[in-house]
Amino acid sequence: MSENLQPVPDDWSRALAIVAHPDDMEFGCAGAVAAWTAGGKSVGYLLLTRGEAGIDGMAPAEAVKVREEEQRASAEICGVGSVEFLDYADGAIEHSPRLRRDLAAAIRRHRPELLITFTHHDFTYTGKWNSPDHRNTGRAALDAVLDAGNRWIFPDLQDKPWNGVKYAAIAGSTRPTHAVDVGGSLDVAVASVEAHSAYLAGLGLPPGAARGPLEAFVTSTGERFGGRPAVPFELIRF
Ligand SMILES: [Zn+2]
Repeated sequence: MSENLQPVPDDWSRALAIVAHPDDMEFGCAGAVAAWTAGGKSVGYLLLTRGEAGIDGMAPAEAVKVREEEQRASAEICGVGSVEFLDYADGAIEHSPRLRRDLAAAIRRHRPELLITFTHHDFTYTGKWNSPDHRNTGRAALDAVLDAGNRWIFPDLQDKPWNGVKYAAIAGSTRPTHAVDVGGSLDVAVASVEAHSAYLAGLGLPPGAARGPLEAFVTSTGERFGGRPAVPFELIRF
């Protein structure tokens, strides 16, 4: 934890976030998204599931609606322009050619220069074993960057190949290399987490409980980023 974090490069205008569940972006990096959109960048969200298995006390048939609404509200708070759901089954995402094809199609359609995802590593930044949904989504999203650029892979896709992804920014990683200053977007980030109110209630967290841990996280990250509150990313260059 000693090496300093570098600023995430700024030479891009469109980002696409590909994550497994509602709340992955909010717990991972919403402050950075809010800072980017406030600076005029365009960010879209693509979620593989509606998070229907995420609330223990709520049946999936109800959770699927509640969690989609909460995700849309949360994205709007952060200035995100589009939110799409692919309707994979929560908890059962596999890294497959079908998933790579769906993600390559989305990358060709959105033409992002920055791909955002949640960590594909075995453990998350909290030290906990990562979920298979996160591992498989992250790996498939990174693989799909290459697929999107190769016209001979998935040649039946309608949109033209897109080779313009310059970077992937991976949130929640155990090995961050870069960071984004979130000093001006912390309140927005807190509000975007709190928009997931049914999910937070399901975890037994009262209203207002999100701020403390989020502040502590961006403050401790800032110790490696010139003392400014920051969200860390592992950055991959393509
Ligand atoms: Zn998740």
